[in-house]
Amino acid sequence: MRSIVDAYWDSKLPIYDITLSKLQKDGINCLLIDVDGTLINRKSSKIPNAVKNWINESKKFFSLYLISNNPSEKRISKIAKELEIRYKFNALKPRKKVTQDVIREIKCDSKSIAIIGDRIFTDIIVGNRCNIKTILVKRLGKDGLPIKLNLTLLIEELIIFFIK
Ligand SMILES: [Mg+2]
Repeated sequence: MRSIVDAYWDSKLPIYDITLSKLQKDGINCLLIDVDGTLINRKSSKIPNAVKNWINESKKFFSLYLISNNPSEKRISKIAKELEIRYKFNALKPRKKVTQDVIREIKCDSKSIAIIGDRIFTDIIVGNRCNIKTILVKRLGKDGLPIKLNLTLLIEELIIFFIK
């Protein structure tokens, strides 16, 4: 049985290597996307070109929404504006409230919604709690490439190992 910490799809890929046709085959048509680590490095303000291209292509097929735990509206609104996507900041994932508000707002069938993020304890858990699909992606470094050693994910996996 899948538990609350298990991603529907642990892609082991950076977001920009996710093939859109695979998502479509899975019946997905709405994407809720985490920001820091997923679209851009947490300490960077430059969105990698590979991410911009992926987002632009995605818009042709999916309804997109950014859901960030970052409390800085200034940072998240700037990124959202640049990508021209609706957003929520300070979303308090894995709490459900904000994510559920978005699910209601986008009016998609929950079966056709996926959340994409780089963390288990926030993105994956909130998605599972809201009964939507969950996709784990590799965290992006300052150079826009996936980081080789993701300590956060390692610690999360270690905790999960001990509590399971
Ligand atoms: Mg993140």
